[in-house]
Amino acid sequence: MPLKERDLIDRIRRAASHGRYKLALGIGDDCAVLDLPRGSQALVTTDFSLEGIHFRREWHPPDSVGHRCLARGLSDIAAMGGTPHAAFLSLAVPADLPQRWVDGFIAGLLKLAKQYSVTLAGGDTAQSPDGILADIVVLGSVPKGKAILRSGARPGDILYVTGTLGLSVAALAELRRGKKLQPAKHPRHFYPDPRIAVGQYLCEKKLATAMIDTSDGLSTDLRHICDESKVGALVDQTLLPVTSGRDRFRDALHGGEDYELLFTASPRHSIPDEITGVPITRIGRITKSRHIKLTQPDGSTLPLSPQGWQHFA
Ligand code: ADP
Ligand code: MG
Repeated sequence: MPLKERDLIDRIRRAASHGRYKLALGIGDDCAVLDLPRGSQALVTTDFSLEGIHFRREWHPPDSVGHRCLARGLSDIAAMGGTPHAAFLSLAVPADLPQRWVDGFIAGLLKLAKQYSVTLAGGDTAQSPDGILADIVVLGSVPKGKAILRSGARPGDILYVTGTLGLSVAALAELRRGKKLQPAKHPRHFYPDPRIAVGQYLCEKKLATAMIDTSDGLSTDLRHICDESKVGALVDQTLLPVTSGRDRFRDALHGGEDYELLFTASPRHSIPDEITGVPITRIGRITKSRHIKLTQPDGSTLPLSPQGWQHFA
């Protein structure tokens, strides 16, 4: 390891000391101790970030890897309509990794944590025989019984998505072609902003019947909602919130790691065009027939099969 385990933990502990917020006890004991808001249920999610699978050291600067590591967990909390409180980081690094890489990673992770008042409350540290491995656990809460599940979509519900789709995989395709990208110019890939406030709004106003975050790509994530809700869906290609680029529709349908929210709502509720500054787009509807279909610009329909996220390896 770059520093001895104890020194590395001390360094992380000092860097994380900004937010004792909401914590009875953070880093330094056998367990963290946390108070949860009264009348709430805990949300717990865990996600790996593995070198060569989820990021590459030659493509992603360390602060981006740290940011994306935490963003994955925060996005899962957002997808339940919850509020994140604390994160736990299990980090294994190779012996020859420069300490400044670890510092950059922690700085990127903590910058995002601070933005959402999330405290890094613990973790584990080890030496890896090969490659960097980071596992993030995020703990959040939601008012009891109010979590927005994948299983709540009903035939006739309208399907919505936040933000834009396909930008993250479009940047990845350029990296794969050997292009050097400036991370700041491709924030949806390098520094995705989890849609916490939109999720909380939908939960508070009881607007969404089902929700998921688009981590694997629309075609795959929509399948999860349909499977859990035992329904089908009809997506209108002309309504998809895409930007430019030759492959924009394929990227929007099948590209992963956008970390937008895909949700359903009863047609009786009107959904604003924008929630907390994030555009909301109607892209289709839920059907009783269990098929998932795509309406094309000429009006014909095609089956929309899940062709989601392929990792880098
Ligand atoms: P234990 O032997 O009980 O697992 P450790 O020495 O591994 O204790 O950890 C000591 C403290 O440092 C604990 O509070 C633990 O949660 C925290 N910690 C260890 N590694 C990390 C890390 N990578 N990020 C944040 N906190 C960490
Ligand atoms: Mg330990």
